[in-house]
Amino acid sequence: ETLDKGLEKSKSSFFSRLSKAVVGKSRVDDEVLDDLEEVLVTSDVGVETTLKIIERIEARVARDKYVGTDQLDSILREEIAGLLAETHHGEATEFEVPRVDGPYVIMVVGVNGVGKTTTIGKLAHQFSKQGKKVVLGAADTFRAAAIDQLQVWADRVGVPLVKQKMGSDPASVAFDTLSAALKQHADVVLIDTAGRLHNKVNLMNELTKVKRVMQKVVPDAPHEVLLVLDGSTGQNAFEQARQFTKATEVTSLAVTKLDGTAKGGVVIGISDQFRIPVKYIGVGEGIEDLQVFNKLEFVDSFFN
Ligand code: GDP
Repeated sequence: ETLDKGLEKSKSSFFSRLSKAVVGKSRVDDEVLDDLEEVLVTSDVGVETTLKIIERIEARVARDKYVGTDQLDSILREEIAGLLAETHHGEATEFEVPRVDGPYVIMVVGVNGVGKTTTIGKLAHQFSKQGKKVVLGAADTFRAAAIDQLQVWADRVGVPLVKQKMGSDPASVAFDTLSAALKQHADVVLIDTAGRLHNKVNLMNELTKVKRVMQKVVPDAPHEVLLVLDGSTGQNAFEQARQFTKATEVTSLAVTKLDGTAKGGVVIGISDQFRIPVKYIGVGEGIEDLQVFNKLEFVDSFFN
């Protein structure tokens, strides 16, 4: 079964589709570029970013007169690495948070089912592994299951969770969480928030209120607004990024479920289109299955 899965994945991998697109052709011409465009779009790179990449390659072809299809792989790698470098400054390899006065507050947003709770649990695990004091806040008060799930992760990692009962005011939970974190001299706070997209105005109002109330306790909170997206959902992930960036100022992204898909293209398109760096990638359901995003490693794995 594992072998089948592996084959499935390699069959549809970016590299194999790229190879198919250029088979029997020696030079990069309009036809190859059309095929390449299709491969990029179907890899979830997104239309806008795909066109940008195609235009850059066209410009190269025009300049160099002849570009062989054997060069396409390395040219694409260069272009994609270049795109990622525009939003991903630096080369983080460790789970780390900057030093701030008081706790470093990360507000986590995203719709249900994308892996928000799991990502919070994995992050809590990484930070506490380094000896940091972590406090979680269950400000997604809309679903009882969300609070319960977060409690399961808090227990597993061994960190405190601040919660109230279902239906309570998320801003009040956030306030309590930061107050507790201050009292306990916590280093990192992770606040789960509700991600119901059925009403954009409500979402915006709720997130704005949570922020405002947090700032009564920690004036520069949240230091980070982390949007969690499911990397296997393609266009949905783009749409969610659009909605959340309209509702609040998103500072970083976590893209989950990149283990089950050959479509890591979402990472390229979303970071380019929204100018937000991908900070973490989820590669499984286990507690260790979260990685700090590394653009060079990513480009390598995308082409393999
Ligand atoms: P939430 O509703 O956004 O909080 O989503 P959850 O954290 O409950 O995750 C939803 C499902 O996705 C669960 O079954 C998780 O185990 C699974 N999940 C989360 N992250 C990943 C990942 O990186 N890879 C895989 N394969 N599954 C994941």
